Amino acid sequence: MRHITLIASLILAACGPTHGTEVNVPADGPAWTREPDVFAQVERVAGAAAVFWGGSPDMLIGWAITFTNERMACGSSSWAWGCTEYHDRTIEVALMDSPCPAGTVLAHEIGHVVVPNDAGHQDPRWRDQKFWYDMADMLKADEPDPACRAAISDAVTKMIVFY
Ligand SMILES: [Zn+2]
Repeated sequence: MRHITLIASLILAACGPTHGTEVNVPADGPAWTREPDVFAQVERVAGAAAVFWGGSPDMLIGWAITFTNERMACGSSSWAWGCTEYHDRTIEVALMDSPCPAGTVLAHEIGHVVVPNDAGHQDPRWRDQKFWYDMADMLKADEPDPACRAAISDAVTKMIVFY
């Protein structure tokens, strides 16, 4: 699959850190993946999710986020919506035809960055429905598009861990 790679680096201040998160999108994804500010869109959602999990956007420095048209194998699942590999700092997220990055399971995968080594979902927040509906409300607060808001509602049902 051909990917467009956008590597964004923000040099904040002379004495500040250099930020960099790689974002990859397929060439034939939804319209937002071809917008010039796609990196900024993904960075905003990922950063907000990191803060909601109790972390910080800085925790995403050095990570690569790759959106895919198809679901993927991940750990014990052969058909996952997303996959985070802490050892090589990669996140894969299925696009699910979402009209915006927030309408994917990205916020779940960011949780795996902030709560490392918890592939088995032992942290109680993975199963806490209030946590996830509050997460959805937080994500929707930045999204005026009704289609995006509906996608967030759909995605949150995939982000809550039920087993
Ligand atoms: Zn998970």
